[in-house]
Amino acid sequence: MRSVSIFGATGSIGESTFDLIRRGGGAEVYRTVALTGGRNITRLAEMARELRAEIAVTAHEECMPALRDALQGSGVEVAAGAGAIADAADRPVDWTMSAIVGAAGLVPGLRALRHGGTLALANKESLVTAGPLLMQTAHDFGATILPVDSEHSAVFQALTGEDRSCVERVIITASGGPFRDWDAERMATATLAEAVAHPNWSMGQRISIDSASMFNKALELVETREFFGIDPEKIEVLVHPQSIVHALVGFCDGGIMAHLGPADMRHAIGFALHWPSRGPVPVERLDLARIANLSFQTPDEKRFPALRLAREVMEARGLSGAAFNAAKEIALDQFIAGRITFPQMAVLVEETLAQMARRNDLSRDAANLDDVLQADAAARRTATEIVGAW
Ligand code: NAD
Ligand code: MG
Repeated sequence: MRSVSIFGATGSIGESTFDLIRRGGGAEVYRTVALTGGRNITRLAEMARELRAEIAVTAHEECMPALRDALQGSGVEVAAGAGAIADAADRPVDWTMSAIVGAAGLVPGLRALRHGGTLALANKESLVTAGPLLMQTAHDFGATILPVDSEHSAVFQALTGEDRSCVERVIITASGGPFRDWDAERMATATLAEAVAHPNWSMGQRISIDSASMFNKALELVETREFFGIDPEKIEVLVHPQSIVHALVGFCDGGIMAHLGPADMRHAIGFALHWPSRGPVPVERLDLARIANLSFQTPDEKRFPALRLAREVMEARGLSGAAFNAAKEIALDQFIAGRITFPQMAVLVEETLAQMARRNDLSRDAANLDDVLQADAAARRTATEIVGAW
């Protein structure tokens, strides 16, 4: 029986993963070890009972009594707190879904890699924050990381069986989000509700706003660089409003392999779940004649400065990925709280990186967890101070 754990089970990716496991036979077919979540205790407990999980963990200590009550008599162990989530990742499993949002996914992911097995990585922030450390840990412990971002799953699929030395470029697509055609003036007035309303994908709140600002694509540029080890100048972004082509890989003979699929994360999750085989996944099949048009355009880095910042981060490497992601998380918190405007998010991230670079805080490489966590914390502090002074 294949064993699985889902970190961030109650989120958008977690729910889609749960859906595939349930459709694939649930507790009859998979032995579920750990499920983790946040404050949605009812849902976490429901999932743990249905999959007969070994342990359910909430990120919040104060939610522990509710979780214990909800799982009374079920035989499911319960625990709470960030430490308990990381400890749950020490329980060996064949397949782990890393779907916590934010840098909080880094440590559980690293711990999961230490028992080998497969890490299905939706948590792109961990690659941006500590790409070299994550890849080295997987290598050292004989673990496999499979990308679960739709674009990176697409690149992975397009590269399978190919000669990597012949890759000329990798293109990841972006829908352009809800503000694709807004001018800068209008973007300055964007509300939270407008930023969350993604035209094509249904996702968690944070990644939806990151899609509107293209910080999501910025993280994905760095993710591409770190995961596939491709030179930054070979990585491109194309705006593709239909979200049908997820990525393209161009080879030295002029051919391009494109990956097409519906805007449903269960494709990328299912690919990682069945890998190295392919298995059935219940996503809608594309009707290309009905879709009729696929269009592409160059992104506007003036209105979406996150893309330019990502290029700088890919060049600088070191601890700048950790600082970039952390500053972006603070900027997002501030926008969600209504304290800064939509365009101020990028200004805040840029200013944080500039201050840290001036203090020479970013030059060490991202191979050591303590250095990474320190850079993450310093960036959060710096960004918070900058906003405080605005
Ligand atoms: P979400 O907000 O819907 O869910 C996040 C999950 O993480 C929840 O279970 C939540 O309880 C848990 N969580 C949040 N903060 C936590 C913390 N500090 N400690 C422990 N657990 C915490 O997010 P999502 O949209 O499912 O995204 C999850 C990850 O997958 C993100 O890294 C995102 O970038 C990536 N991703 C998502 C999509 C998508 O379609 N939703 C696509 C590609 C990649
Ligand atoms: Mg993506």
